[in-house]
Amino acid sequence: MTIHNHDVIVVGGGGAGLRAAIAAREEGADVAIVTKLHPVRSHTGAAEGGINAALREGDDWEMHAYDTMKGSDYLADAPAVETLCQDSPHETIQLEHWGMPFSREDDGTVSQRPFGGLSFPRTTYAGAETGHHLLHTMYQQVVKRGIEVYDEWYVTELAVTDHENPGDRICHGVVAYDIATGELAGFAAEDGVILATGGPGQVYDHTTNAVANTGDGAAMAYRAGVPLEDMEFIQFHPTTLPSTGVLISEGVRGEGGILYNDDGERFMYERGYANNAGELASRDVVSRAELTEVNEDRGIQDEYVHLDMRHLGEERIVDRLENILHLAEDFEGVDALEEPMPVKPGQHYAMGGIETDENGQTCIDGLYAAGENACVSVHGANRLGGNALPELIVFGARAGRHAAGRSRPDRSTRATRRSPMGAGKRSSGPRRPSRPRWRPNAAGSTG
Ligand SMILES: Cc1cc2nc3c(=O)[nH]c(=O)nc-3n(C[C@H](O)[C@H](O)[C@H](O)COP(=O)(O)OP(=O)(O)OC[C@H]3O[C@@H](n4cnc5c(N)ncnc54)[C@H](O)[C@@H]3O)c2cc1C
Repeated sequence: MTIHNHDVIVVGGGGAGLRAAIAAREEGADVAIVTKLHPVRSHTGAAEGGINAALREGDDWEMHAYDTMKGSDYLADAPAVETLCQDSPHETIQLEHWGMPFSREDDGTVSQRPFGGLSFPRTTYAGAETGHHLLHTMYQQVVKRGIEVYDEWYVTELAVTDHENPGDRICHGVVAYDIATGELAGFAAEDGVILATGGPGQVYDHTTNAVANTGDGAAMAYRAGVPLEDMEFIQFHPTTLPSTGVLISEGVRGEGGILYNDDGERFMYERGYANNAGELASRDVVSRAELTEVNEDRGIQDEYVHLDMRHLGEERIVDRLENILHLAEDFEGVDALEEPMPVKPGQHYAMGGIETDENGQTCIDGLYAAGENACVSVHGANRLGGNALPELIVFGARAGRHAAGRSRPDRSTRATRRSPMGAGKRSSGPRRPSRPRWRPNAAGSTG
């Protein structure tokens, strides 16, 4: 079997994987991304709404942290939330410096808009294609740094020692097959493997997630002995198209879109579901309200409610939400400039995943996770809109730095890097000496 040797192997080329790979490379590691899709086809590209970051005067990371804790039903881990909210502005500005085409105000400042559950309009966006631009921006940085990408390689298993106690196990790499040829290969990681394989949405019938979102990373980590955390917390998004599950971004409600039932009532207020926040109450509240309307016979065709953005005017819609017009037209045959869109709740996001600390480290030495397949527990029972993308870049970067610096003393500076809020859930433990490269059999690498 061919063995490809690198310092750090990142499994997945979505937002978390790309950010982790760049960070590990910047620490001097020889990094490779192994991904079953080409990176820019990863599901991060579907993210429309934006990235929460406290960038403006009048806002600060503590308000962001407060909103996140409240939105999580107070079940998120406070130190991790504080890290997310403190690091997000820096990471967002880093994207801007890498060329991400954020939407801007007339004076040139980066635009921010309101999102559900936020006490300040702090969602930074690039039109309604934020994730698409995020992937392309970071992929350019990956190419620029010469990071090797094995795309259309499907990782099936982690190469982990078989010690009885998972805490004693060491991860040395992964096994994958080339989708085009069926060739099986090993990918050995001297310093660490970072799982960034995205969410498990395809477990559900009606979901906003792509067909590639099959929860592979969480399954592999679980089989290797890593606990999964918060798996009972699944988010349902209140505005998905009934026929396909395609997402209609929260940005529509952020810009002022209104929900109506079959009786023409603005039910979020008129039925008292959220008298203060209305349509911008957090996603679980709005999803439950819609379902109650349908269950109590005020839904349309016993299935959905209406989302109306006509009053925003064509100019604003085309400027900020143009792709929503295409989605409504292409998938429901609705001209959203002329009529309301049908919407209903759909599975959207898994708050739970592979248990990690704030450096992405799992209980297995050399195994890290970041992004939607991980659970550092910044979302508790409910993720706020716009809080997943900052999680990718904040914790992706931390996992990349930490994995790269793990076993090589000359790259160890990040291990003692300033931790904004002190210790997280667990200490990552003592450093281990550098390990020999993985040689699964006497023949070793065949090239
Ligand atoms: C429609 C939609 C809109 C969203 N909008 C927003 C938003 O506006 N703001 C926000 O904050 N969040 C948003 N989210 C959530 C956010 O986009 C996701 O949580 C996030 O993009 C997940 O990124 P990721 O890097 O963890 O995974 P992904 O982007 O899904 O990438 C996973 C990668 O892993 C690879 N992979 C998977 N399995 C394997 C395997 N076995 N072997 C090899 N490679 C593998 C894939 O090829 C892919 O490259 C949205 C989610 C959806 C579904």
